[in-house]
Amino acid sequence: MTTPLTLENIRQSPKALLHDHLDGGLRPATVIELAAQYGYDQLPETEVDKLATFFKTAAHSGSLERYLEPFAHTVGVMQTPDALHRVAYECVEDLARDNVVYAEVRFAPELHIDGGLSLDAVVDAVLAGFADGEKAAAAEGHSIVVRCLVTAMRHAARSLEIAELAVRFRDKGVVGFDIAGAEAGHPPTRHLDAFEYMRSNNERFTIHAGEAFGLPSIQEAIAFCGADRLGHGVRIVDDIEIDADGTAHLGRLAALLRDKRIPFEMCPSSNVQTGAVASIAEHPFDLLARLRFRVTVNTDNRLMSDTTMSMEMLRLVEAFGYGWSDLERFTINAMKSAFIAFDERLAVIDEVIKPRYAVLIG
Ligand SMILES: [Zn+2]
Repeated sequence: MTTPLTLENIRQSPKALLHDHLDGGLRPATVIELAAQYGYDQLPETEVDKLATFFKTAAHSGSLERYLEPFAHTVGVMQTPDALHRVAYECVEDLARDNVVYAEVRFAPELHIDGGLSLDAVVDAVLAGFADGEKAAAAEGHSIVVRCLVTAMRHAARSLEIAELAVRFRDKGVVGFDIAGAEAGHPPTRHLDAFEYMRSNNERFTIHAGEAFGLPSIQEAIAFCGADRLGHGVRIVDDIEIDADGTAHLGRLAALLRDKRIPFEMCPSSNVQTGAVASIAEHPFDLLARLRFRVTVNTDNRLMSDTTMSMEMLRLVEAFGYGWSDLERFTINAMKSAFIAFDERLAVIDEVIKPRYAVLIG
């Protein structure tokens, strides 16, 4: 018998997450405690509920630029090894309790050196937090693997340095590289040297593209930079025409991305909040899923978007009527697109995801 598609049952199902920002997933109470501990006096609120509301409200601003503003406060309290370790540890704990079995969590090391830490020390602290979090989750009965992507800020000029950091830490838990931040006026081709460095070292990377900005950003990310995955990529819908009879016609770029099985790291709630799409119901996720693009479901920023992997899946179920087999496909899509080794990906798919979904599908 098919298991009912409730939030609780989705929570119990294994999930894979490729696009989650460490500085966008803190617990509000932790932000307040770290601010007090380290003398950060810029918080707009110091009560847990009020601070949670502040982050949520700021995120619902309708523009990517305004959505990014409250990150000053989370980044502001993540400037010491202990704070970075705690945030990374709690991130793993929260994901594991939501039954995420594999996650790639990203963050920008260059935003965490204001307290005098080196880039290497920042990454060391976060990776130690992830490793300790994995152990604690296992002790609670949750098996989870968390790997790290290091992000360079697209308005800054440190991307090559961050790409070098990714390569230096490749066997210690960093599995890829990304660029993030305001898209308009900051095309990915400004960071070509970093992407070339990654490719020449046999490394993979994803690029935030086609979120706040249209097709040219996606075109650059794929054609010039050689991105392995796309962060969001929702504007690819501008390259798809739908006939009166419902037939879809793919433009050259959309066709290429589907043919190459380029993964789309889609973040439904976040995309609504930044104004990339008007509502979940109008999100191109469903069109792309029906056209068999490699779509994946992600959280982006669990604190600002007030969400979890299970919530994102539930919202898609409610908007598009998905069943367990659809959720299984999106989960397997994510595992196939992970930046860990092929045999490790297969092990999660064959030993964790498929057996569990077989029971759920009934
Ligand atoms: Zn993002």
